[in-house]
Amino acid sequence: MKILVLNAGSSSLKYQLISMPEWDVLSKWLVDKIAIEGTVIKHVWKEGKVEIAGNLENHSVALKKVLELLVDPTHWVLTSLEEIDAAGHRVVHGWEHFVNSSKIDDHAKIKIDELSELAPLHNPANLMGIYAVEEVLPNIPNIAVFDTSFHQTMEPSAYMYSIPYKYYEKYKVRRYGFHGTSHKYVSHRAAEMLDKDIKDMNIIVCHVGNGASVSAIKGGKVVDTSMGFTPLEGLTMGTRSGDLDPAIVAFLMRKENMTIEDIDHMLNKQSGVLGISGVSSDMRDIEDGHIAGKVQETLALEIYVNKIVKYIGSYTAILNWCDAVVLTAGTLENSAYIRKMIADKLTWLGIFLDESKNDFRWEERIISTPESKSVLMVVPTNEEYMIAKETYDLLK
Ligand code: ADP
Repeated sequence: MKILVLNAGSSSLKYQLISMPEWDVLSKWLVDKIAIEGTVIKHVWKEGKVEIAGNLENHSVALKKVLELLVDPTHWVLTSLEEIDAAGHRVVHGWEHFVNSSKIDDHAKIKIDELSELAPLHNPANLMGIYAVEEVLPNIPNIAVFDTSFHQTMEPSAYMYSIPYKYYEKYKVRRYGFHGTSHKYVSHRAAEMLDKDIKDMNIIVCHVGNGASVSAIKGGKVVDTSMGFTPLEGLTMGTRSGDLDPAIVAFLMRKENMTIEDIDHMLNKQSGVLGISGVSSDMRDIEDGHIAGKVQETLALEIYVNKIVKYIGSYTAILNWCDAVVLTAGTLENSAYIRKMIADKLTWLGIFLDESKNDFRWEERIISTPESKSVLMVVPTNEEYMIAKETYDLLK
């Protein structure tokens, strides 16, 4: 079954064409700057890659362009678009409504649209991707895979906030958690690598890239996760603040005459390591600055690492024991330096880093010593594979 996997952002579209169940990636694209001057399409297929510039005014025009390239005889990916059997879409917010991946019908589209209020940056873009496929490939089934679904196993004691209960009843204000597709893939893959049944394991997954979240997974089910009502809660991220005392919001609004929009922008776009360092949201710059002895970058890095370790500690307590701490996403797949900073603070858990195994990027690897009581490992995430698998399993 050939599955088109789509991850649509407000001005970008990422696609992969994957043949399942054998997980053969036939080609990948990134279309950047849709509806902005100077759209760029990067297309990588088995025998080559090409970069094309042009102005594409919306998502369906972008998809049409990509599909043209797919059947372009010089690229040798497909001979006909009829070969595409289904599309799997990443959808960020599924609320309590979508506990599992779901076939997209009119009702599902209305719900995803309604949920835009909770994920204004993501759900409308995800819907644009769905409409684009419906317009260009009207005969194939569309499946939505939600970032929130994997976390729907949390108990109310983990997902409720300590505010008046009526706001949950009225607006469903609660913790949802995000990056669920990644947490699911990585935890299952970790169990496979350790040759254990995930049902018998307690796993902590640290997904740390530009966005970042930690989850506690018991027997394959999420019992807690660090992101909340929105992806703002939890760890210190590239530009997002993560946890903070909510009283700061009212204090700054009064002192600085800030509006709700100003606060929202500050917490989402100007905070995190960018806000602390004043220099960059990219951990490569923060790490370089710290190594060069810069004070603000060092502070940003220390806060970033401490937050991760705090969550690992509290989730070990929640799980009662932790068999494996699994590191994934941009920062932890790539930075040996930050992995070591984290590992050095986990000796209380009986985790000891084998430094001879830590010098690498983007590989599946166990990096703790064999004597360690819990395993520390790196598993590069693969959300596209997981979306293709959910789509395949649902249609099969
Ligand atoms: P997103 O949350 O946007 O999906 P990714 O998981 O792709 O992000 O992570 C991107 C981030 O990973 C970059 O912004 C950077 O902070 C971090 N990163 C990537 N490579 C390295 C590296 N070699 N060292 C440290 N950090 C890195």
